[in-house]
Amino acid sequence: MGDENGDAQCIVDGKRYPVEAGMYLHELRRPLYNQIKNEHRTATPQSFICNHHLLDYRINRIDQMIHSDDLHNQRINRRLTKALQDDNYEVTDVNKVLSDQQTFGERVADGVARFGGSWTFILIFVAILATWMVLNVTHLFGVKFDPYPFILLNLFLSCIAAIQAPIIMMSQNRSADRDRMDAENDFHVNLKSEHELRILHAKLDHLNQSQMPHTLEISRLQLEMMGEIRGEIEKLRMEHIKLNQSKEDSEHAR
Ligand SMILES: [Zn+2]
Repeated sequence: MGDENGDAQCIVDGKRYPVEAGMYLHELRRPLYNQIKNEHRTATPQSFICNHHLLDYRINRIDQMIHSDDLHNQRINRRLTKALQDDNYEVTDVNKVLSDQQTFGERVADGVARFGGSWTFILIFVAILATWMVLNVTHLFGVKFDPYPFILLNLFLSCIAAIQAPIIMMSQNRSADRDRMDAENDFHVNLKSEHELRILHAKLDHLNQSQMPHTLEISRLQLEMMGEIRGEIEKLRMEHIKLNQSKEDSEHAR
């Protein structure tokens, strides 16, 4: 507590110091004040602390902030590393699996479906139909195996249609298999990216919500200390000027 002779008692060691050599606790920032109050139950806002012990507390507080940020960072990094290494699923090589389990029949079905769905097929087919009809109507070269209304051609077309449908379905089943495997792969990759994204969010939040304020508080502490140093220098300068003045005065008097 300060008293009339300009002295105050340091809350830490109980010694008396001039008021300029320290600070009252109500002049300190909340976190620092709380820390002192934690260790010295009797501390009140009117308590006094000398500069020497205040410096200890400030450095302590900075260490604490750095340490807690460090711990938090390590924790997040551990989680991130674990998530990155955690590929406990297998990415299916869709093309390889499909070509491995493909039978001869399926390969043929694929080829037929591909050819059946092309313009080449349509043009060839139209040409065959036209030739068939023209031959049987005009009796060219004496050919006359399927006269109008082309009953054999009809049967022939029905057979082709009947076979083509299951072949196309076979081919479609295979592309459905491919889609299913692709979707499964995508699902795993998405799941993993989402998890990683979450952790990155946590990292960013930590940076924003505790590391930044801590950095700002640290620079504030530094500014406070610098301000005190400036005050000290100012005081020394004034004393120096005073000293010179009195020296000059005494020389004049002689
Ligand atoms: Zn002290």
